Amino acid sequence: MSKLSQDILPYNDFSGYIKRKFGKRVQKISVDAGFTCPNRDGTKSTGACIYCANESFSPFYCNPKISITEQLLKGIEFFSPKYKTQEYLAYFQSYTNTYSNIELLKEKYSEALDVKGICGLVIATRPDCINEEILEMITNLGNDKYVAIEYGVESTKDDTLNFINRGHSWSDTIKAIKLTAKFKINIGVHLILGLPGENHNDFMVHAERISKLPINFLKIHQLQILKNTPIEKIFKETPELFIDLSLENYVKIVVDFVERLNPNIIIERFTGESPLEMIIYPRWEGKKNYEITHLVVNELKRRNSYQGKLYSNEIF
Ligand code: SF4
Repeated sequence: MSKLSQDILPYNDFSGYIKRKFGKRVQKISVDAGFTCPNRDGTKSTGACIYCANESFSPFYCNPKISITEQLLKGIEFFSPKYKTQEYLAYFQSYTNTYSNIELLKEKYSEALDVKGICGLVIATRPDCINEEILEMITNLGNDKYVAIEYGVESTKDDTLNFINRGHSWSDTIKAIKLTAKFKINIGVHLILGLPGENHNDFMVHAERISKLPINFLKIHQLQILKNTPIEKIFKETPELFIDLSLENYVKIVVDFVERLNPNIIIERFTGESPLEMIIYPRWEGKKNYEITHLVVNELKRRNSYQGKLYSNEIF
């Protein structure tokens, strides 16, 4: 994307990319393969990331008590009446989906790819849970199918990563992404804006650092303080560690971020959406993702701006 026009979105959007790539709408279906996470099982920690509430983003069909095939079929049954001609990506979303022995990983991914209508995989994981052996297996498995790995990066600042008990560093992220790029696997990144101790300047640094990596997709999420997570207590006791995440301020931050982001990076989303009953802050009156996307687009247009307007590959 180079210049804003009336006809195109002022950012590099994910659904446009999917339509260009597949020639049709493709829907992700979440699956829970029953994996755990090294930040919960004691390998790195038993405490988890301080904001983690994994159940907050699991749809009803995403249930490790039933097989991957059944989860995907239930997901397809749910989505197919809405969009008749679509294909599906199996989205290994819950916990850390490269954290197991390689035979079991291969079995689970293969099962998903064998389900009729599944045209590829998206595998969510942590940057410290990947290696060449797994990447090679994934590359061979995919053959003509689409494969992407989505890394939970969350912040590019080690101080923040330590504070949130993330259990990996920014250099782990750089290493994982560069290694994955060697295998020509599509790479997504998940980033949280609003983590405790971070400010506007830090978010802009995130944009600049992420822009330098060989990634394809980015999901931007606002920090969400969810009930019964360690961060709930920290938020109540030390609110000064948290920036104003009013919707108005968040949209401004996101637009500032997008203006500094490499225009080649496809933006998959600008916000996360947990069930309202779980959210302590920010609540945004239950606004949906698409409504916030509209606000971001409108603000970019109001500024006569677009993704990458302030991007410079000379920054670092
Ligand atoms: S890596 Fe993911 S699943 Fe593991 S503790 Fe952190 S947020 Fe939770």
